[in-house]
Amino acid sequence: MTVSTLTPSGVQCPKCGAHSIVEYKPTVYHCLKCDFEKDLSMPPKPEDTGLAQAIMGLAGFGLGLLILL
Ligand SMILES: [Zn+2]
Repeated sequence: MTVSTLTPSGVQCPKCGAHSIVEYKPTVYHCLKCDFEKDLSMPPKPEDTGLAQAIMGLAGFGLGLLILL
């Protein structure tokens, strides 16, 4: 069994210029040399937050109905 640790991907760091960028998480890149970090994941959109709140509200409403019945 081979344990693969952080392997340099050859991506150049925009901060220090070293080719020591590793994929820290599927969306997060980290430089081993200068601790530069780049998160490629997009922040949640306001629409999504509103939708989630609407779903939570509906779930709460449904739960309330279940308790009443
Ligand atoms: Zn760097």
